[in-house]
Amino acid sequence: MEHTTSGDYIIRGMAADNQVRFFAAYTKDLVEEARTIHGTSPTATAALGRLLTGGAMMGSMCKNDTDLVTLQIKGDGPIGTLIVTADAQANVKGYVRNPQVILPAKNGKLDVGGAVGNGVLTVIKDLGLREPYTGQTNLVSGEIAEDLTSYFASSEQIPTSVALGVLMNKNNTVRHAGGFIIQMMPFATEETISALEERLALFTSVTRHLDAGETPEDMMAALFDGMDMTIEQKMPTRFYCNCSKERVSRAVISIGKKEIEKMIAEGEPIEVNCHFCNSHYQFSVDELKEMLKKAAG
Ligand SMILES: [Zn+2]
Repeated sequence: MEHTTSGDYIIRGMAADNQVRFFAAYTKDLVEEARTIHGTSPTATAALGRLLTGGAMMGSMCKNDTDLVTLQIKGDGPIGTLIVTADAQANVKGYVRNPQVILPAKNGKLDVGGAVGNGVLTVIKDLGLREPYTGQTNLVSGEIAEDLTSYFASSEQIPTSVALGVLMNKNNTVRHAGGFIIQMMPFATEETISALEERLALFTSVTRHLDAGETPEDMMAALFDGMDMTIEQKMPTRFYCNCSKERVSRAVISIGKKEIEKMIAEGEPIEVNCHFCNSHYQFSVDELKEMLKKAAG
């Protein structure tokens, strides 16, 4: 996939005497890119865009360059499964099973919770260890931010507040997207926690702040107004898929000799699609024969 330039970024920092850490993101371009690649309906754009935004921030939390975070939402709603993967450089990719899902608006808003339904959020962290870390939580509302908040509380035991928002233009392209993750450090005082809870309750929504022209820095400054706050890092984030013909061919090889022999017997080139970025890869019969030599069993 081609690299694209974008204005998207993530900031991270500390506030309130290091009792709170925060991540905040602007992700319009990457959500718009996901919309273009997958041809998502407004509801699916909002659902996938929120998960991509949360995933990009969670990727940026990783300690090692090779760490990967995958978020999977399996609900019983019409949108089907959503999957997002992000790396430590905040490269993020994702897809949704039914990108064209259309639902009536609920209270004047896109009904993401209705599209997702009841189900489970699974977070898989590949930290280069033998077994990846897996955490699971039941969906609270299917609105995604609340579900991630619940995941942090139940699986990681970190009091966290997640806010995510995707706002559409009238022509259904992405107008704004972004969000933040606020986490209490273990030594945070009751006073700080309740002060922040009050501010979060008054915050309205990410999309309202972004549509008023605020940046992630502005949003955090508003939230921590009157408290000390330091931005420690600013990093770009983008929609990026690392698939290639070589990687896809390895995946085909891994399905084994028998299956590849069947494909060769059919005498037609095969086409493999990448779910994440919708790239198409073609393999000729001759290429399949080469792959057969590398296949096991
Ligand atoms: Zn791809």
